[in-house]
Amino acid sequence: MKKKGQKNRIRMGAYLLVFLLFLTGCGKDKRNLDSSGITSMQQEQQEETTAQEEETKDAALENPKTEETKKSPAEVNMGSYKEAQEKKKNEQSLAEAEASEEAKKQDNDETEETKETEEEEDMIMVKEKEVMIVSASSLNLRRHPSMDAEVLARLSRGDEVEKTRFNDDWTEVEFRGQTGYVSSEYLVSKEEKETAGEESTAQQNTGGHIIAIDAGHQDHANNEQEPIGPGAAETKPKVSSGTQGIATNKPEYVLNLEVSLKLKQELIDRGYQVVMIRETNEVNLSNQERASIANDSGAEAFVRIHANSSTDTSINGTLTMAPTASNPYLSNLYSKCHSLAQHIVDSICEQTGSKNMGIQETDGMSGINWCTVPVAIVEMGFMSNPEEDQRMSEEGYQDKIVTGIANGLDAYFTEQ
Ligand SMILES: [Zn+2]
Repeated sequence: MKKKGQKNRIRMGAYLLVFLLFLTGCGKDKRNLDSSGITSMQQEQQEETTAQEEETKDAALENPKTEETKKSPAEVNMGSYKEAQEKKKNEQSLAEAEASEEAKKQDNDETEETKETEEEEDMIMVKEKEVMIVSASSLNLRRHPSMDAEVLARLSRGDEVEKTRFNDDWTEVEFRGQTGYVSSEYLVSKEEKETAGEESTAQQNTGGHIIAIDAGHQDHANNEQEPIGPGAAETKPKVSSGTQGIATNKPEYVLNLEVSLKLKQELIDRGYQVVMIRETNEVNLSNQERASIANDSGAEAFVRIHANSSTDTSINGTLTMAPTASNPYLSNLYSKCHSLAQHIVDSICEQTGSKNMGIQETDGMSGINWCTVPVAIVEMGFMSNPEEDQRMSEEGYQDKIVTGIANGLDAYFTEQ
């Protein structure tokens, strides 16, 4: 029993010793840990502050205006740095996600491009690409004709696009090598816009000038005599019935009225005011009376429409008639009449391609001599020439004559 009690005492002593040693060791270790702990944390913080400084410098390079760059390294604590790192990491993964999303979308779009949406299929093709101008201050060019479709580009007012297909809502256009869709509402045709501009310019040029048009002759001749000019002893029949088409058999007065009515419309369209001496064939107006109507109308130019005739059926071409420089009745209007006649004959021949026979100066025409306004007689062509007679009855050729006369008037007034 004694031996057992001794053993226990020794064991207790050993435990005590180990315990004491343990206590001492722990204390020492703890102190060491504390000191080394502070040192390593300071070091860590220092290192991380340096890292933050680098980070800040990088950020400053990327974006010199960010708030972060304004903070001094001392202001940046570990927490915000970690937050920044975390944020950066999140942003990176978000960007990656977006990139892969975009890639997927592009893959989808590429496969979709071969298939047309219903809206696209229903679009009307244009025969020729038409240049259109954007009328909205900002207009989205979309991949498909849908408000949900990806925006390929943003167009601005005045941008030009080429229209290839369209419907009421959407127009397919080409813009700087891209094909996309824009709202049809905000496109205007460049040509229409320019024509509208030209019309207003033309109206400014014509200044609403008044033109008198006389379709020469009438259905029945009036062979009563009248003086060929104011105070003239010489007389001429009041009005003849004119010539007749060798191929068409059309009376000249009919042809003259056809062209005169077209000219009336063309001049009105160009902004002129028009006075028609006659609009039917059933009239009885002498050449002197026709001149008087023009004089009293306030007309600034008087255009008399006629067709020519010759015994030589091979003769063809266009000419205008004007007074000579020595005309006793309207010598003061010589240069204006000459200018008017020249512009008209040149402009007609430019349009029709007919032979330009120039101005025929004469003082034997009552319808000129009684005028107090610049006047020109237009001899459109020869009804005695079968080809020219036929041509003058064609709508298209008449339109060319009319365009020529109107261009001549434009040129005349531009010069005045
Ligand atoms: Zn005639």
